[in-house]
Order: sequence, then structure tokens, then C-alpha cells
Amino acid sequence: MSMLEVKDLHVSYGAIKAVQGISFEMEQGETVALIGSNGAGKSTTLRTISGLEKAKSGSIVFQGQELTKLKPHQIVELGIAHVPEGRRVFARMSVDENLRMGANIIKDRAQIKQDLERVYDIFPRLRERMKQQAGTLSGGEQQMLALGRALMTNGSLLMMLDEPSMGLAPIIVEEVFKIIRQINESGTSILLIEQNAFLALTTASHAYVLETGKITMQGKSSDLLADKRVKDAYL
Ligand code: ATP
Repeated sequence: MSMLEVKDLHVSYGAIKAVQGISFEMEQGETVALIGSNGAGKSTTLRTISGLEKAKSGSIVFQGQELTKLKPHQIVELGIAHVPEGRRVFARMSVDENLRMGANIIKDRAQIKQDLERVYDIFPRLRERMKQQAGTLSGGEQQMLALGRALMTNGSLLMMLDEPSMGLAPIIVEEVFKIIRQINESGTSILLIEQNAFLALTTASHAYVLETGKITMQGKSSDLLADKRVKDAYL
């Protein structure tokens, strides 16, 4: 059974049909990418999985459980973390407080401490800046903080990342993606939205191409990287 199975999903904003019958699945432990140009419906898809938008029809099944009827907080509790576009850290709170916010549903203090240690091991730069106000961090550091906060989510089974490269200098993008791969290797499955198709296809094992709310191509990343249509349109 797939870890996540999206079937014939439709999502609209009033008259705008943002997602028009998309289906895809991912296995546990995988990194899967959704690529496609602006407005293709990628963010809407993630927001619907998180319960932030309502599906008009279709189903989203995570580990055997239907998500479309659940509230966002219930979806987080299942171990699905969403890192939205533009990062959105709590600017006036410290790094440490931001990370603890990610754990607000984990009751056990020992668990929180252990998870914090894990995050600080992955991001030594955040450990150095533990007491610093998040709003004063660089863009790259804020992206790392957003990833760290997602890792504090209950078990962090599935992490959904919306354009983690957005607005970052190339060298920082490389650093962030190295960490994304590391998070995946440590067992968290990753659903990645990325405008930079090359970056997406060299990180994910499988990918889906979205165009105006529909999936137009899908397959192994290595095959898509070599596909002439993908090369012409996205690389
Ligand atoms: P981007 O990378 O620009 O976010 P995307 O592929 O993630 O692109 P979506 O943000 O999901 O695309 O947008 C899909 C469509 O839905 C677009 O036509 C967009 O204008 C529209 N849309 C998105 N959010 C809203 C909203 N809150 N209200 C109305 N229309 C929206």
C-alpha cells in the first residue's frame, strides 16, 4: 500500500478550477516532486493535503486514512508537516521558541528534548543561534528553521515542502537541499514542490508535472530528466 494516495482530486477557488482531477501516489521513504510553472496548482495540492483548502471531490488517503474530512490539526497529528512557501517563521520569537512551537502537540517533555537535539545536530547553525530572534536570521537560516520546525512535528513521517529554494542564493540552495536529502535518508518521506525542475528531478526519485491543474507527465526522475518535452519546457 502506498503511504499517500491522491485520487482524482479537484479543488476550486470560486470559479477558478485550481486542481482538476489529479492523481498521484508516493511510497514510504520516498522523495516525490511536483513540478510545473506558476499557477499550475502545486501549492493548492499541498494545502489540500494539509486540510487548509477543501477538496471539491476526490480522495487523499494517508496510511489508509482518508484526509479530506479531517481538520488541519488532526492531519498534523498524523505526522504530516507542511513548510509553506516563504517560510513564515515567528519573527519575534527566538530560534529555540520557534522550534518548540513545531512540537506543540507532542506532550512528552523528554521527547521534545530529544527531537530538539536531533534538529540542532542537523542544523549546527541553529544551535549557535538558539537565542537569536528568528526575524534577524538570513533567508537561508530562516529556511533551515522552517525545516527544523517541521522536523519537530509528531514523528515527522511526511514533510511537504513548498519551494524551499525560493529567494535563496545558489550556494544556500545547495546547502538546504543537502539537508533535505539528509532528512529523507533519516526516514522522513518528502513531497517537494520546486520551480527549479533540475533541482527537483535530481532530488526526488519520482516526479509529476502539473500544467493548469492537471498532471501531464509523470515517471522516474531520471527518465523525466532525459525527456525532450521536459527538457524543452522546464530545464
Ligand atoms: P505558484 O508556484 O505560483 O504558487 P502553483 O502551481 O503552486 O503556483 P497554485 O498556487 O496552487 O499554483 O494556484 C493554482 C491556481 O489557483 C492559480 O490560477 C491561482 O491563481 C489560483 N489560486 C491560488 N490561490 C488562490 C486563492 N486563495 N484564491 C483564488 N485563487 C487562487
